Amino acid sequence: MSKKLNGTVIVTYRCNAKCTMCNRYKVPSKPEEEITVDTIRKLPEMYFTNITGGEPFIREDLKDIVRELYKKSDRIVISTNGFFTERIVDLCKEFPQIGIRISIEGLEQNNNEIRGLEDGFNRGYTTLRTLVDMGMKDVGFGMTVQDKNAGDLVALYDISDELGMEFATASLHNSFYFVESNNIIHDRLMVAENFEKLINRLLDSNSPKKWFRAYFNHGLINYIFSQKRLLQCDMSFDTFFIDPFGDVMPCNGTKEKEVMGNLNEQSWDELWNSEKAESVRKKVRSCDRNCWMIGSVSPAMHKYIWVPAMWVIKHKFLRFFKKKKYSMYENKIVRDYRDGKVTKEQLDACSTCEKCINMQR
Ligand code: SF4
Ligand code: SF4
Repeated sequence: MSKKLNGTVIVTYRCNAKCTMCNRYKVPSKPEEEITVDTIRKLPEMYFTNITGGEPFIREDLKDIVRELYKKSDRIVISTNGFFTERIVDLCKEFPQIGIRISIEGLEQNNNEIRGLEDGFNRGYTTLRTLVDMGMKDVGFGMTVQDKNAGDLVALYDISDELGMEFATASLHNSFYFVESNNIIHDRLMVAENFEKLINRLLDSNSPKKWFRAYFNHGLINYIFSQKRLLQCDMSFDTFFIDPFGDVMPCNGTKEKEVMGNLNEQSWDELWNSEKAESVRKKVRSCDRNCWMIGSVSPAMHKYIWVPAMWVIKHKFLRFFKKKKYSMYENKIVRDYRDGKVTKEQLDACSTCEKCINMQR
């Protein structure tokens, strides 16, 4: 039996939001060219599937897609901006075991300004509450941290904690997927301080899952200081993304779109074992973008579990009686930046922000 994979299905590039860090809504897919249930039927067995967009609930046939995916996937999580409450609730009634992650970009004012959706915070929050009240178990929210909303990070974590929900974080990335190449964190120390507070809250909890989330957030500090990834990236080896056009890709972090094959035209085995797929895998091996997004880090954390596990042992148990278990200054680069040994311009030049890189040329 072949090994089960980790897959992300981008069901649409249409989106009802206008986020400041993503231009995807300006380049939507057309409904008639979006991935069909027939193509989804050709996907391999998966231990985990993320359904995302654009905004996936824009697709009126999302239930048919989920039904098909459950035939081949052990666990499904949908990422959404939470705006279409009724559609989300309706889908969850049929699939109560499904995971829902709603992205909320800060407290009310910041969220609405970043997301560009009128009343977006209240819509997202109402959806979350409704799902919790329905008894949905796998519900959580996620936040993409940037200068503007970093101060809301711990407050949002507290809301998630009160509601007994998962709290996922990300930071700004640039890629073909976001149709954006100029995202960058400006005040790195301020943003890292907020991550540090969150990490200590997570380490103080009694939940092993949260201790590993603390490690993920430690990796985000490392990322915003433009450092090498803490764990090797194995995207395209046992993980894939498929876009609305049926193109199978290694990930959503590359500068230009990388294509391993097209599932509308090929069978899975033909595509996955093709020369084209192999050449993409070679590129992944030498990729220097150092993304730290949950889609590529979660499989790596499972595969190289001893690395985060050692970090957790060190910070949770060896520092059990310490009030502050984690300091961002454990990272040499953060100390060097504080001490003026590395400048903002040097860090910017090592980021994926094209504007910053070009300014250094
Ligand atoms: S980040 Fe998500 S919700 Fe925001 S515009 Fe991009 S696809 Fe839409
Ligand atoms: S680091 Fe990994 S996830 Fe990021 S662009 Fe490279 S291959 Fe993709």
